[in-house]
Amino acid sequence: MATATSAIQPEPSVATFVARKQKMLINGKWVEAASGKTFPTFNPATGEILSHVAEGDREDIDRAVKAARAAFESGAWSRISPSERGRLIWKLADLIEKHLEEFAQLESLDNGKPLCIARAADVPLTVDHFRYYAGWATKIEGNTIPMSFARPGTYHAYTVREPIGVVGQIIPWNFPLLMAAWKLGAALATGCTVVLKPAEQTPLTALRLGELILEAGFPDGVVNIVPGYGETAGAALAAHMDVDKVAFTGSTEVGKLILQAAAGNLKKVSLELGGKSPNIIFDDADLDAAIPGSSMAIFFNQGQCCCAGSRLFVEKKVFDRVVDGVAQTAAKIRVGPGFDPATELGPLVSEEQLRRVCGYLDSGFKEGAKAVVGGSRHGDKGYFVKPTVLVDTRDNMKVVQEEIFGPVVTAIPFSEAGEIIPRANDTMYGLAAGVWTRDVKKAHSIASKIKAGTIWINCYNVFDAALPFGGYKQSGWGREMGHEVLKNYTEVKSVCSAL
Ligand code: ADP
Repeated sequence: MATATSAIQPEPSVATFVARKQKMLINGKWVEAASGKTFPTFNPATGEILSHVAEGDREDIDRAVKAARAAFESGAWSRISPSERGRLIWKLADLIEKHLEEFAQLESLDNGKPLCIARAADVPLTVDHFRYYAGWATKIEGNTIPMSFARPGTYHAYTVREPIGVVGQIIPWNFPLLMAAWKLGAALATGCTVVLKPAEQTPLTALRLGELILEAGFPDGVVNIVPGYGETAGAALAAHMDVDKVAFTGSTEVGKLILQAAAGNLKKVSLELGGKSPNIIFDDADLDAAIPGSSMAIFFNQGQCCCAGSRLFVEKKVFDRVVDGVAQTAAKIRVGPGFDPATELGPLVSEEQLRRVCGYLDSGFKEGAKAVVGGSRHGDKGYFVKPTVLVDTRDNMKVVQEEIFGPVVTAIPFSEAGEIIPRANDTMYGLAAGVWTRDVKKAHSIASKIKAGTIWINCYNVFDAALPFGGYKQSGWGREMGHEVLKNYTEVKSVCSAL
C-alpha cells in the first residue's frame, strides 16, 4: 500500500472560513445558539479540531421552525410564480459552481475525502442536482379526472399538488453538500420551507451553502440551517409538532427513532437508510470492467456509501481471479490526507467510525474470516483504514450481515445463478445491487428478482438527479431524486365541482 505525502494548502477564503466561529442560519440571519454553546468539528486526517460551530438544540430548532412556518404561510416562496422559484434555484446552482474549489476544499477538510473526488463528484453533482430541480419548479402538475359514476359534462374534477409545508431535513456526513442538495432541491422546487440539520461531523459546507442561499436572494426563513447533535437538535426537529414532514438520510437504527418521534403529529416521513448491497459477478462477465468496477463499488468514498457493494458474490470459476484482481487494486490504492494530490482513499470521517470499522474487522477475524489484503488501521494518526478484502466468510457472520460503512468487502463464491438470488436477498436491507454479466437475459432476470431500489448492470455507483434512489425493506421509505421525490414534498388535493 502506497502512502501519499506532500499536501496542498487551503485557499485563503477556506482558511478564513474554518478559522471563524460558525453560527446558524435562522430567518435570514446568522445567529449564535440560544445556549451560547458551540461544538468542535475535526479534521479526520489529523484528528485535530478544524472549526467551532454553534450548537443548536431544542430552542434553536423551535426558532427555526417558527421562521420556516412564517415564510411558508406568508406565501413569499410557495405562492410566487414557479418560474421565479426555478430561477432562484438555478441562481444558487450558478453560485455554487462559481465557488466550486472552495466547496471542494471545505468538504475535503471536514469529511476527509480526497480533494480531487470532491472537485470531480460532490460539488458538480450538487450543481447539477439544483439545476435539475430548478426545471421541476414549473412542471408540478395535477390531473383532470373523469368521474366514473357521472355522465361527462356533469362534474369538473381535478387534482393539484400543493407544497406539504414546513419540512425538517436531517442529513448524514458521507456526502455532506450533496445530501443537502438532494434534500433541498425537491423541497424548494415544490414551494416548501425548510429547517436543515447537517451532521455534527460535517456541518461546514451546509453553512457555506447558507451564505450563498442569502446571496442568491431567497426570502428570509425559506431555508434555515441549524447545526447540532442528532440526539438533541435532530431529535427536536423530528418531534416538532409544527413540522409537516421530516426527510432523513442516515442509519436504519436512527431512521426508526425518527419514525417514533414523528408519531406525535403524524408528520410525513421519508427515510433513506443503510444497505448491505450484493454485487454479483458471473463467470461470463467482462472481468476487465468487473474487477475495477467492483473495487470502486466498495472503496469509493472510503466505503462510506449506503449503497456500497459490500457483499461481493463471485461465480466459482472466476473467484480466485476476481479476488486477486480486487486485492491487487486495493494494495495499490494510495491512502492519505484528502489534501494530498496523490491520495485516492482518505480517512474515515471520525474516531467513532474508525473504532466501529476496526471492531467489525476484529469480529470477522474471530469468526474465522481472513484478510487477503488490508485488515487493519493505516498509520497511527487520523482515522485511516486499509482497503480490505475478506474471504472465508459464512453468510451468517456479522461482517456479511451488518453494514460496516468502511473500505471492507467480503468476497463470497457461488456455484450457479439459481443459488445466488436467495443469498443476495438474505439481508434486512434492500438499497442497491450490482450484476456483472455479458448475458442480457440473465442480467435482467436477476435484476427483476433482487429486492433492492437500484440495480446496476455492468456498472456501479452511477447516480443521476433524474434517477430515483431509495430502499426496499429496512433501507427506507420513499425515493430521493427524479420526479418520484416530488411526491414526498407535495399533498394531493382533489377538487370536485358540480356543473
Ligand atoms: P451515523 O450512525 O452513520 O453517524 P446517523 O444516522 O447517526 O449516522 O446520523 C445521520 C444524521 O442523523 C445526523 O445528522 C445525525 O445528527 C442525525 N441523528 C442522529 N441521531 C438522531 C436522533 N436520535 N434523532 C434525529 N436525528 C439524529
